[in-house]
Amino acid sequence: MSYNKSKLAFKEAYQVIPGGVDSPVRAFSSVGGTPVFIERGEGGHLIDIDGNRYIDFVQSWGPLILGHADKDVEKAVIEAVKKGLSFGAPTLNETDLATEIVEIFESIEKVRFVSSGTEAVMSAIRLARGYTKRDDFIKFTGCYHGHADSLLVQAGSGMATFGSPSSPGVPADLTKHTLLATYNDIESVKKCFEQSENGVSSIIIEPIAGNMGLVPADETFLEELRALCDKHGALLIFDEVMSGFRASIRGYQGIGSVKPDIVTLGKVIGAGMPVGAFGTRKEIMAELSPEGPIYQAGTLSGNPVAMAAGLASLKKLKADPTIYTTLEKRAKRLMQGFQASADALNIPMVTNVRGSMFGFYFSDKVVKNFDDALENNSEFFGKFHGKMLEKGVYLACSSYETGFISVATSDEMIEEAIRACEESLKELTA
Ligand SMILES: *Cc1c(COP(=O)(O)O)cnc(C)c1O
Repeated sequence: MSYNKSKLAFKEAYQVIPGGVDSPVRAFSSVGGTPVFIERGEGGHLIDIDGNRYIDFVQSWGPLILGHADKDVEKAVIEAVKKGLSFGAPTLNETDLATEIVEIFESIEKVRFVSSGTEAVMSAIRLARGYTKRDDFIKFTGCYHGHADSLLVQAGSGMATFGSPSSPGVPADLTKHTLLATYNDIESVKKCFEQSENGVSSIIIEPIAGNMGLVPADETFLEELRALCDKHGALLIFDEVMSGFRASIRGYQGIGSVKPDIVTLGKVIGAGMPVGAFGTRKEIMAELSPEGPIYQAGTLSGNPVAMAAGLASLKKLKADPTIYTTLEKRAKRLMQGFQASADALNIPMVTNVRGSMFGFYFSDKVVKNFDDALENNSEFFGKFHGKMLEKGVYLACSSYETGFISVATSDEMIEEAIRACEESLKELTA
């Protein structure tokens, strides 16, 4: 496989864009290569500018559950585009998509659209703080909630501690209300409640963590979080930006039984267009501007083209109740195939699947939190990633990302990827 055009394109991009990319993970730096530049997508495949074809398990980091250039989404988008790109005034599509979401998620009575997952989470945190009139909130090490200042905290060991910013440019004053706890460890959460001087506004969690590899929360852990929130008058925020419409149509909430207060959505909700959303009970949403005093706004929020894409995609996902079982079957087969290839060569591997989401670590430790995830052999992963790419399999270029199956990822593609994995591991251990 030749990557000559991509290599040149990367060099040129590097001159005018920091790191040559508009989002750091795309740079392939953690797998030690240079990124391929994409020319187009076709169903379950990506085609780069050198003409190489890959089975795509990244799917724009989650959104493309229907695969690339889905005909129905494409049609809806083109129809919307012809009417104009944005009005900054209400459109019917917003109400339609909001109605769908309210029907799907029991925990959402009203929803507001924004343009990214980051914005959704940032606004949810503000809403929880404004509603409870408290500043502190609890987040978990290894959970990613976008790049808003107060959420860019995850450094440090698993000890419950007051957060220090994990990026220059974030003043410590803006993260001193972010309390850090350990995923799946309820004692660390209790400690945060004890440490908080003026009360905790909310706990934010990915109920199916997808940003330290794939790490589902224990159901009892989530139950205990719910109980702690109720006891202390704090709100429980489920960040389902990744897991929503992915793990199941209701995300975690279609699999587990713990009820959140606020839910944040993104990625699949826009089918590849920039959309995020947050929602909860009417009484809490009533605090939001213009009904209430908590300010939140967006020039392109509820963008008509993005709403059209979301609606078309959701309509398809709802129409066929077998979609998620098929996707999960494929994800399980893929992980079982990877596991078998690794086992045959005595390479340690653990895997996880939730609906169309999958994750694997080169490690023999069951991963329950971020510290466990760090035991993964990421150097080996980097080499594995390069081998898989050469064999036409496009995996996320970091061992701490989740992989995705789309409706367009066929059984044949899964088998092809398993064969590529077998060969790659053999070559790496030869
Ligand atoms: C991707 C992601 C975000 C941020 O969404 P952006 O659209 O990238 O801003 C927030 N939370 C979770 C759980 C995510 O996976």
